[in-house]
Amino acid sequence: MIIGAHLSISKGYPAAVREAAKLGLNGFQYFTRNPRGGAIRRLAVEEIAAFRNERGAAGLKAVIAHLPYTVNLGSSERRLQEFATMVVREDVERARLLGVELVVAHPGHYGEEGREPGLARVAEVLKSGLSGQEEGPVFCLETMAGQGHEIGGRLEELAALIKTLEAEVRIGLCLDSAHLFAAGWDLRTWAGIDKLITRVDELVGWDKVRALHLNDSKAPLGSRRDRHELIGRGELGPEGIRAIVTHPELKKLPFFLETPVKEYREYASEAKLVRSLAGLTEEAEDDRV
Ligand SMILES: [Zn+2]
Ligand SMILES: [Zn+2]
Repeated sequence: MIIGAHLSISKGYPAAVREAAKLGLNGFQYFTRNPRGGAIRRLAVEEIAAFRNERGAAGLKAVIAHLPYTVNLGSSERRLQEFATMVVREDVERARLLGVELVVAHPGHYGEEGREPGLARVAEVLKSGLSGQEEGPVFCLETMAGQGHEIGGRLEELAALIKTLEAEVRIGLCLDSAHLFAAGWDLRTWAGIDKLITRVDELVGWDKVRALHLNDSKAPLGSRRDRHELIGRGELGPEGIRAIVTHPELKKLPFFLETPVKEYREYASEAKLVRSLAGLTEEAEDDRV
């Protein structure tokens, strides 16, 4: 099982590798830049080399990047569109230099003119931000709860974007268990999960799915509200989380916790709980690094 968590890179990429290893994780996710202001850390060649070395030594199996929430790929303001395009290009290039596998992003929000023009702008921003990228990370759009003007609460919207872009750019999907549940997908049973898989497969092909944000949900099924909860403490509950992490298809994906922990050491117990729900004892998990 690959299980990581969302960690800060404020002390540098190599420090985040050490933090993940210390927490008993074999992967992690980080924000590419300050989640509020959009400022970016300097990245020297020495740090890239140190990150790659330490990652190898720690045996981390999956490291993925996440764009900050403040970047709106669907913005109707010219200046914000240009900023989003620049962020996509720059952050994907950094991810390539670091050798991380995926760059995940929220599809964004549509404005006053409605959903369709919003979707068209997301496609436009991604097309210019990702054009010419022949190797490196896959850019993954995340499944959202669909609150307010959020794009991506319906699989059909994500499918439309992927269909428009897949011939030209490297694009995939990142699932989020809390968002999907709030969007109306009952993932508490294998039957419910199978429905999701069938639908994704019809729309874009299941092989487009590259990762899963593993979060419990404080918000009820179909509520369209994005409220993460600690593993087993929310509406999915221990049995729902068990169904997800033991499902034959889902368990092949790398999992990343974005649960509302107060301090990072709680991620260690969150991951331990996930492993026990998956039926993996600590001993059987000796090969996890
Ligand atoms: Zn996300
Ligand atoms: Zn969320």
